[in-house]
This record gives sequence, structure tokens and C-alpha cells, in this order.
Amino acid sequence: MLTPADTYSQLCRDFTWPIPDRYNIGVDVCDKHPSAKPALIHKRDGQDTQVYTFGDLKRLSNKLANVLIASGLTRGDRIGILLPQAPETAVAHIAAYKAGLIATPLFTLFGEDALEYRLGACGAAALVTDQASLPKIAAIRDRLPSLKLILCIDGPADGATDYHTVMEKASDAFAPVDTAADDPALIIFTSGTTGPPKGALHAHRVLLGHLPGVEYPHGFFPQPGDLYWTPADWAWIGGLIDVLLPSLHHGIPVLTYRAAKFDPEETYALIAEHGVRNMFLPPTALKLMRQVPLTAAGKAMNVRSVASGGESLGANLLDWGRSTFGVTINEFYGQTECNLVVGNNADLDPIRPGSMGKPIPGHRVAIIDDEGNALPAGETGNIAVHRPDPVMFLEYWNNPDATREKFIGDWLLTGDTGSQDEDGYIWYGGRNDDVITSAGYRIGPGEVEDCLLKHDAVALAAVVGVPDPVRTEAVKAFIVLREGAKPSDALATEIQSFVKRQLAAHEYPRLIEFIDELPMTTTGKIMRRELRARG
Ligand code: ATP
Ligand code: MG
Repeated sequence: MLTPADTYSQLCRDFTWPIPDRYNIGVDVCDKHPSAKPALIHKRDGQDTQVYTFGDLKRLSNKLANVLIASGLTRGDRIGILLPQAPETAVAHIAAYKAGLIATPLFTLFGEDALEYRLGACGAAALVTDQASLPKIAAIRDRLPSLKLILCIDGPADGATDYHTVMEKASDAFAPVDTAADDPALIIFTSGTTGPPKGALHAHRVLLGHLPGVEYPHGFFPQPGDLYWTPADWAWIGGLIDVLLPSLHHGIPVLTYRAAKFDPEETYALIAEHGVRNMFLPPTALKLMRQVPLTAAGKAMNVRSVASGGESLGANLLDWGRSTFGVTINEFYGQTECNLVVGNNADLDPIRPGSMGKPIPGHRVAIIDDEGNALPAGETGNIAVHRPDPVMFLEYWNNPDATREKFIGDWLLTGDTGSQDEDGYIWYGGRNDDVITSAGYRIGPGEVEDCLLKHDAVALAAVVGVPDPVRTEAVKAFIVLREGAKPSDALATEIQSFVKRQLAAHEYPRLIEFIDELPMTTTGKIMRRELRARG
């Protein structure tokens, strides 16, 4: 969607959104491509790698769409997709879109409560899943009256319809439902970092809305020879609409693989072996990779682009990234409701370490006050995005109050604070509710964490405000030490002096607690809420 340009301003000036009135994600991502072209490179543990072509995706998604319609599902019904990164997951999404259903991706690590909450909240009529997840569904099925059809992709199982049996019988011809670009296509639940997760309802156009945000930080993706991979699960917006669907839209193959446990050394080997050229690697994955020496396999990587986001990347992964991947990691920013709206493209504009980049062409992003007025450069306020914007969600499912509260006039409030400098670069401050108020100062935890990570003994750090009788809140750091470092009062004092020296005397953590592990969401974000509760 972006035409490579020499400067950022030229790129913005030349940009228009080519959004047709009628548009269907399912048709777009497979039916238009040459049928013999590889679409998914499916790596299977202990077995040969399997290639699925665009023709395979078309045939299989048509079959599944026929199965779903024959089971009585009708336009607008919700279908849960509770599967890991796998070809069937892609097929289920494509089939749902072609059949005019609303796909609801669900993460396989969810427990019974999380699944009951989400399947109940969206009133799913069908679910595509596998043997590994069926016991959890069996335990909650009584409490999910809308759920009519459960398809199990890996063999017959009690309480489920066998996917392969019904697929074999189904016709591979299907006339896709004629959807408007604005018709609902999927519900993605937010990570639930700050409260109960909300179901963001997105229209078919959301995929087109994502394209500049994928193309920009990936050096004008796609380029000849590109092959995209992410360790993020496709149940999250970052895996599904930053990687899988945009890649298929462009006819670029996706490596399909997600390890049960992220292992940095295996990751280097995987990238080298499959010739991965483009990656979305969340900051946590990068930090884990940095902890191990680059393996011989890692040295054989031939990477063209690495983008990261979802959390602050911080300034000090950039040099490591350059020496490890041979490219600059381009950070981007967005959220489930309105994704990929800010980003870096190091080839076009030098990165300012610590900044998330500039508004991505096509999006109007500004820093506004609580009344909706734009703030001058350098001032901290709400990061906001102007509507209409094709990447923006339609509404929170069944929650008009939350939808209303998300906007001031035509500005969508991200709930994050930040500032924009004179040259347009946006600097992340923190989540509104993560901001620490201490002795009259407003302290963003990200900056303090970034500083802590520069200390030799620190592997991971999370900073929160805890109640303090004098200062309202005191800055507290939870620290996971690097291997070899031993917790002690002396080390705590040394780390405190380090922050005072490196960052600011008023921002240093007055309290330090060494812990073995940080509580993380399933998307690998630090759950500061939980740490705050711990005090
Ligand atoms: P919930 O809304 O349920 O609390 P969540 O906000 O964590 O969950 P997501 O939509 O997955 O769910 O995450 C979006 C948020 O992640 C953003 O609002 C922002 O706080 C954070 N984020 C995304 N990209 C970046 C980035 N580059 N730097 C810092 N934070 C980021
Ligand atoms: Mg959020």
C-alpha cells in the first residue's frame, strides 16, 4: 500500500487509503494468488515440514465454509478458533470470513475460566479446536448454551465433530458472502493487562488498515524473497494481523511454528534453517535472545527486517539487535482496538533510541489533553488517534459504555501517555493507570525499567508505584537478576545509585525486591497490576 519514497513527508503526502466498499478478508488473502504459490511453511516437531499453497488454502477454506453453513451457522454468528499456529487455524479464519461469520481467536494457554468468559461474552455458536483443548471445553460446555458445533482437527473425540470426516465430504466450491469493508469480521479480546479483557469488534477493512503499519517498519514489505515468522501466537492481533494475514495478502509465505516454550537457541536455529527474512519479535523474546550467546546457527541467519512492539523496546536493545541480526529493530506501537499507528523505519528516518517512531502514513496520531485539545511538542498527554481510520475497531462487543468512554469527540484515547518531539517522534510514557505519582512527580515506569536493564546484574525489571504516606506513591522495582548475580542489600543500594546517576534522583526505586520470575500475561507483558497488589 506504501509506495517507497525518499522521505517520510513525501510518503505521508502521497498516501491515500484504497479501501473498496465491498471487501472480504478471506477472499483477499487466498483466492487472488497463483494456486501453486507457497503460503504456509508448516514446521512440525519430529516430522517433515509441510508446505501449503494458496490453492490449498482456497480449497480447504471453501470446504470448511460449506461445513459451517451446512451446520446452520448464519451470517454474523461468532466462531471461536482455539488452536495454536497451524494451517487449520489459517483455514478456519479464512473460512469464517468467506462465510460472513465473526472469527474469535482464543489462545491455547487459556484455562477454563478465561475460555468460558470469552466464549460466553461473544456467544460463540461454533468452535474449532483440537484434542489438547477439548477437556477444558468439556468442563465448561454446560455453561455455554449458544455453542452448537465443536470441530476437532486432530482425530475423532467425544463431544466433538471430527473435522477431517466432514471436510472430506464437503464441496470445495463456495461462493463467498459479499461483505462490505465495514461489516464485522472478528472479535479480538485485549490482553487484559489492566482489567477484564474487552472484545474489540473489527471490520473486514482492519486488514487493509494494518498494511502501512506492516510495510513501514519492515522496510517496505514485501520485497523479493521475503518469508515472515513470529513466535507470537495468532490468537493475538500481533500474530494474526501484523504477520499472518498481511503476509498472505501480499502473497508472501509464513513460517508456521510456535514452540511450547520459547527457547532462544532453538529460535536462532529455526530462523537460519528456514531462511526467515522478516520477523515480529516482541521485546520479551528479544530480551531472552540477548541472554544467550549467538549460536553458530544464529550466525547463519539472513534476516531482512525485524520489528518489535506491544511493550517498550527500550533504547538498549538496538545495538545488540544490529550486531545479532544485521538490521535495525524497528519499534512500532498500537493496541488491539487500533493497531500499528506509530512506528520506525530506520532506512527512511534515523531512529531516536527510546522513541516508538512517527505516526505511520495514513494515521493521524496526536498528543491531546483530557479535553481533546492537541498539546504542543514536548508536552506529555494522552496518545490519541483520529477517526475515521480503517484500522480502528467498530466497538467493544456488547459494551456501548466502554466504547463511548474510549473516545473524546473523534479522538480515540489509547489509555497511554506520551509526548511528541518537534520532529514528530513519539515517546511512550506509560499506561494511564501505570503512571506513578510520587512527591508530585509523574513517573512513567518504562523509563526506570529501561535504566535498570542497563545495569549488568539485571535481567528483567518491572517498576510500579506502591502506596507511601509521604509521597503518595513510592517507586518500587521488582528485579530478576542475571545468572551469576546474587541478591543482597549491597547490590540493591548499588542499583539504586546507578538509577539516580543514570536517570534521575527523583525516579530511582526507593524499594527493590529481587524475585525469580515476573508475572506475565500470556502475550508476555508484565502484569504490573499484580505487582502493585503485592505491594
Ligand atoms: P487491556 O486493554 O485489556 O488492559 P492490553 O492493553 O495490554 O490489555 P493490547 O491491546 O494487547 O492489550 O496492548 C496494547 C497496549 O500495549 C498499548 O495500549 C500500550 O500500552 C502497549 N504497547 C504497545 N506497543 C507498545 C510500544 N511500542 N511501547 C510501549 N507500549 C506499547
Ligand atoms: Mg489496552
